[in-house]
Amino acid sequence: EMSVEKHVFEADVARLLHLMVHSVYSDKNIFLRELISNAADACEKLRYEAIVAPELLANDPAPRITLTLDEERARLIVEDNGIGMSRDELVESLGTIARSGTRAFMERIEAAQGKEGAQFIGQFGVGFYSAFMVADNVDVVSRRAGSDKAWHWASDGKGSYTVSAVELVDAPARGTRITLHLMDDAKTYTSRWTVERIVKEQSGHVPVPISIVEKPGEEPAQVADGTALWTKQKSEISKEDYADFYRSVAGQYDEPAATVHFRAEGRHEYTALAFVPGSKPFDLFDPDRKGRMKLYVRRVFITDEAELLPRYLRFVRGLIDTADLPLNVSREMIQESPLLASIRKGLTNRVLTSIEKLAESEPETFAKVWENFGSVIKEGIYEDFERRAQLIALSRFRTTASDENQRALNDYVKDMKEGQTAIYYLAGDNLAQLKASPQLEGFRARGIEVLLLTDPVDSFWVTSAPDFEGKPFKSITQGAADLAGIAKQTSDDATSTEASQAVAEFVTFVKATLGDVVSDVRTSERLTESAVCLVAPEHGPDRQLEKMLQGAGR
Ligand code: ADP
Ligand code: MG
Repeated sequence: EMSVEKHVFEADVARLLHLMVHSVYSDKNIFLRELISNAADACEKLRYEAIVAPELLANDPAPRITLTLDEERARLIVEDNGIGMSRDELVESLGTIARSGTRAFMERIEAAQGKEGAQFIGQFGVGFYSAFMVADNVDVVSRRAGSDKAWHWASDGKGSYTVSAVELVDAPARGTRITLHLMDDAKTYTSRWTVERIVKEQSGHVPVPISIVEKPGEEPAQVADGTALWTKQKSEISKEDYADFYRSVAGQYDEPAATVHFRAEGRHEYTALAFVPGSKPFDLFDPDRKGRMKLYVRRVFITDEAELLPRYLRFVRGLIDTADLPLNVSREMIQESPLLASIRKGLTNRVLTSIEKLAESEPETFAKVWENFGSVIKEGIYEDFERRAQLIALSRFRTTASDENQRALNDYVKDMKEGQTAIYYLAGDNLAQLKASPQLEGFRARGIEVLLLTDPVDSFWVTSAPDFEGKPFKSITQGAADLAGIAKQTSDDATSTEASQAVAEFVTFVKATLGDVVSDVRTSERLTESAVCLVAPEHGPDRQLEKMLQGAGR
């Protein structure tokens, strides 16, 4: 007699499950993509472990995913012959949420009220739980490769689950079988036509073949061949193929904004297929968030933790496949390999070039990319010394001359006023506040464009980038504004560059009154309507950076 252990879900899982069941997602089909993607991951993990332990493959080396439809009993079964799960792995993987940032995810999904919530599920690594969108009971029977035990996990998604050992005859010889007991309104997932369409649409390019069994006991029919898309010739791949693949590799539901697919030849050989997402992943600014570019060696998935791109391109999704590393390369060795350096360089160049090309050929798509990822790309200005000039040139800004986030410094420089030698900026937390700043008055009067910088990262790169094409960046809240040499556009003779006797006396009075509170008091060309404003000293942090550093407790 085998014993049944009862476990309570971790609080976050319970909360998530509640959301899954009670929100009406517009697109429930995604549960299937999530389960297939887990099955494919399991097959890839096995392939990887089998490099050093080939006996794990036993007499069944070819990976496969099988979907069995059981209309009579309203069941859908997703089975793979991948790595499988031990008892502890079942409890760990299907009872907790491992990934960091859970809170942020929950808040986002709750705020989305079901409308767009589904799109975050796959990105966040909680895909398995989406099964409860369509099933009121889920059974998982799994046998880990090489193990002589099999386990049964079962839950109705209402707060607890059970785990028990099962007879080997009731389990797959290796891998995992997930049985969904479909809810009344989800019976359509036993229809061959429906399921085949969804699989082709969402999962047509996973690197493991997928078959459908239309009725229990019937022969499986293959619906996706598991050919790795990136190994095909570009001319054989349609835009739709790329988009499908992007969705499965990125866990996104939209279209890629840019696709980079190339083969590098020469000293280091590799194939790269990478995408700039069409929308913003929810955890872009999570400090724990790593890039998720996957590394394959001869089609075997090795890791998604190799740093194949610099941090400031961490939103790019895709993979590298190379034959230049041994299959049994350790994850530590990868990091030190000269190949990795070469990939980082080559891939970074190609990604940046493709974004630059977008700016020229598809300005609207580019504008979206910039809106979504500009604040991350700008981190590169101070992190990637070699490409600083290129990244500054690629950057776009809101300015006093443009409401949209799309002025390039190239344009700024072209429109500089006679006598203007610097690129002026004003940094702060929000646009409305910046626009109302009295500091801008003198610049407006002279028609001088000022960059309005609202991203936290802005205060850092402007101080690390000495110039753009020889023009230094200058905060208008800092030092003397030296506007005297630039003609005003509106003629008013009320202010003169020399302070009058009265003004000089006033300045002396203010200095005496404020004493040590300020380091200097002076007249300025900076203001036209307001009487006074605070500025930071010429050298050192500007007002915004000062505030941020104070905020950070430094
Ligand atoms: P993610 O796939 O992003 O890790 P999921 O919620 O989809 O998140 O799955 C959680 C974990 O459960 C996986 O990381 C994996 O360890 C395990 N798992 C799920 N399905 C399978 C499967 N078919 N075979 C082996 N392990 C699985
Ligand atoms: Mg998953």
